[in-house]
Amino acid sequence: MSELNRRAILQTGVVAAGAALLPRIVSAEELNTSADLRIASFKFDVTPPLGHSLCGGWITPATVIEDSLEAIGFVILGAGEPIVVCAVDWTGLLNEAHIAWRTALAEAAGTSPERVAVQCVHQHDAPFACLEAQRIVSKIGGLPDIVDIDFFNRCLDKGREAVRKAMAETVPLTHVATGQAKVERVASNRRIMGLTGKVVTQRGSSSKDPAHQQFPEGLIDPFLKTVAFYSGETKVVSCHYYACHPMSHYGKGKVSADFCGLARKQIQKTEPNCTHLYFNGCGGNIGAGKYNDGADATRPILMQRVLDAIVQSEANLSPQKIETCRWSTAEMLPPPNTDFSIDQILNQIADSSRKVVDRNRPAYTVAWHRRYEKQLPIVLSALHLNQTSLVHFPAESFIEYQLRTQASFADRFVACAAYGDGGPWYIPTQEAYTQGGYESTVAWCDPKIDQLMCEAVVKAMNS
Ligand SMILES: [Zn+2]
Repeated sequence: MSELNRRAILQTGVVAAGAALLPRIVSAEELNTSADLRIASFKFDVTPPLGHSLCGGWITPATVIEDSLEAIGFVILGAGEPIVVCAVDWTGLLNEAHIAWRTALAEAAGTSPERVAVQCVHQHDAPFACLEAQRIVSKIGGLPDIVDIDFFNRCLDKGREAVRKAMAETVPLTHVATGQAKVERVASNRRIMGLTGKVVTQRGSSSKDPAHQQFPEGLIDPFLKTVAFYSGETKVVSCHYYACHPMSHYGKGKVSADFCGLARKQIQKTEPNCTHLYFNGCGGNIGAGKYNDGADATRPILMQRVLDAIVQSEANLSPQKIETCRWSTAEMLPPPNTDFSIDQILNQIADSSRKVVDRNRPAYTVAWHRRYEKQLPIVLSALHLNQTSLVHFPAESFIEYQLRTQASFADRFVACAAYGDGGPWYIPTQEAYTQGGYESTVAWCDPKIDQLMCEAVVKAMNS
């Protein structure tokens, strides 16, 4: 562990402990009795049309829709301006695309984009939207689209309509409950460390390499967490959180919500009157590779393991009256990683002798640089109800951020959703940058993102 990380964790812990000792001034707007609060859920289809690019255009485009992709969310009224939280079955929403989603849902709810969290589940046979990257590849020509803009805009229209409808259908929000259960034999750390402290082999989402199955799981968060919202005795919304890349297999053009999304769809069938949401936690360095050979037959097995945890996590929910409900945010603007030369990358994108992945993917690097030049910060947000906090992280955050946050605020039930604004792509820890492995080669930000993220978490948890 680097000294900087040690300090960041220490700082997180100290601030948390300090906050517990000092009386915090709570404004009238923040402190709400459950009688003031209202909730409604919404859902809209975001399945791409056949032929649409998947995962940025460097894998087979959509050739068949195996099952639909959905955006599912809820609005909360009565805790200041409306709050909107939404989970999307897409690979990612980056930079302007993420801001456009938050703005559209905010407009429909009559609130500001800062009070909207949009988190992707990160399936790979799904759209991976970055509007600037799309402009770059379309200008160069001869490359598959990143995202079809008309389709993207149609999704925003559907989102506005769904949120508007939800605003007219709210019910009193009175209670909140939490649960958790271990997910057996799904998550494993993708970065297998050797004796020299470097990544010796990268364990992907699936693997047939016996070594990948033999190496231990490594650092993961084995728990699936649930936060459920009630109107009186009726459970109306249930959110599930688990940190792991959600792909059992991908790349053949078969659009699917994959094993995590399928688990959510399954529990939804059994409880039609409660809306279930699934969030991917800080799973940037987590995948199912230890337990997944990538065969078609393994998808339902992984689905069942996640579903079992959801059922078990929900089994002991004990609703508590909501005494407080507040939304907090913290902005961060991590500088780009100076290892990347934008001129060189633009030449690479223009080089038609290269593979699509080596041209479309770097367009996202350029997009982050241009976004940084515009000084458009990332918003990290948190929804706090009594002693429960739902924290919304950006991009492909490493599991360490989730574990640090939970450990530093051990007096709270902390549920983490990542894959918010995907601009930075991977968010490794500072020390991971020096350990090698795939993720640090596609991390668009400078290693100081570690410290900036820890500071943003402390602010969002305490403000
Ligand atoms: Zn990923």
